[in-house]
Amino acid sequence: MTALLEVRDLAKHYAGKSGTTIRALDGVGFTLGRDEVLGVVGESGCGKSTLGRTLLRLVEPTQGSVLFEGEDITNLSRRDMNRRRRDMQIVFQDPFGSLNPRHKIGTIVGEPLVIHGEADVAARVAEMLDIVGLPPDAAGRFPHEFSGGQRQRIAIARALALRPKLLVADEPVSALDVSIQSQIINLIADLRRRFGLSMIFISHDLSVIRHVSDRIAVMYFGRIVEIGSAADIFDRPVHPYTRALLSAIPRPGLGPKPQRILLEGELPDPAHPPPGCAFQGRCRQAMARCATEAPGLQIRRAEGDLRDTACHLFEAA
Ligand code: SF4
Repeated sequence: MTALLEVRDLAKHYAGKSGTTIRALDGVGFTLGRDEVLGVVGESGCGKSTLGRTLLRLVEPTQGSVLFEGEDITNLSRRDMNRRRRDMQIVFQDPFGSLNPRHKIGTIVGEPLVIHGEADVAARVAEMLDIVGLPPDAAGRFPHEFSGGQRQRIAIARALALRPKLLVADEPVSALDVSIQSQIINLIADLRRRFGLSMIFISHDLSVIRHVSDRIAVMYFGRIVEIGSAADIFDRPVHPYTRALLSAIPRPGLGPKPQRILLEGELPDPAHPPPGCAFQGRCRQAMARCATEAPGLQIRRAEGDLRDTACHLFEAA
């Protein structure tokens, strides 16, 4: 069966100062199955939000392609892309900034339905508000009358009103209090099952990613450095960057925590990327070739797992 989404060599470059090129996204490829959730994790500035926006063509890719149900959407006209958008929606980090403060909730949630010429808008808005756990009278109120968690419920109701096949959730709980985060994560997990949604779930927080993902892609400096099943990535991380990220999070009920690997230093300057592996300046296992040769994403077959890893330590002999 065709993957819902097939991403090939996707890149987004920006012009930097003094003629430099900022490679915010630098050749990313993966597939997403139907009913699958791919968690995308990495530090701030690693390109994960650019990936989410580029997938939906909210920003135009510099190169590469995105196939949605086998159709290359990267070259679609604006009109055809708008037709496709009903199947591909996004929820952003800031639930206040993404809701028009001058519009009532009924208008905000119903707008995608109106744009796509759907019938029974009021009834479907009421249904969506109920599904996300908001009272019926929410439709007549304004965004400022709601808490951060409730506003994110409104944003989710709007995103799912058209019953999309794909939801990109870009740091959907990062702006919320910890006590509210789990409510929204549980809501997203429920809605995923209820609607058979496929999802790209973007977060800097591996603990959050772990709750929702079937597979996980770890990004560093505009590239995927490791991608595999959630179990393989969590229980047997192999890339030095993934191992450092994982060593920093609590593992309740999952046995002894690995020794903390401190991630020293910062991401490289995107205007002046280092030759070779972008992680070399922070990697304790760096070798001479890491300074000159960038590792490609390769399938690693070991210990019964199947994942792709971009690191010279795991390249086939
Ligand atoms: Fe470390 Fe080299 Fe692997 Fe990069 S390629 S993660 S520098 S060992």
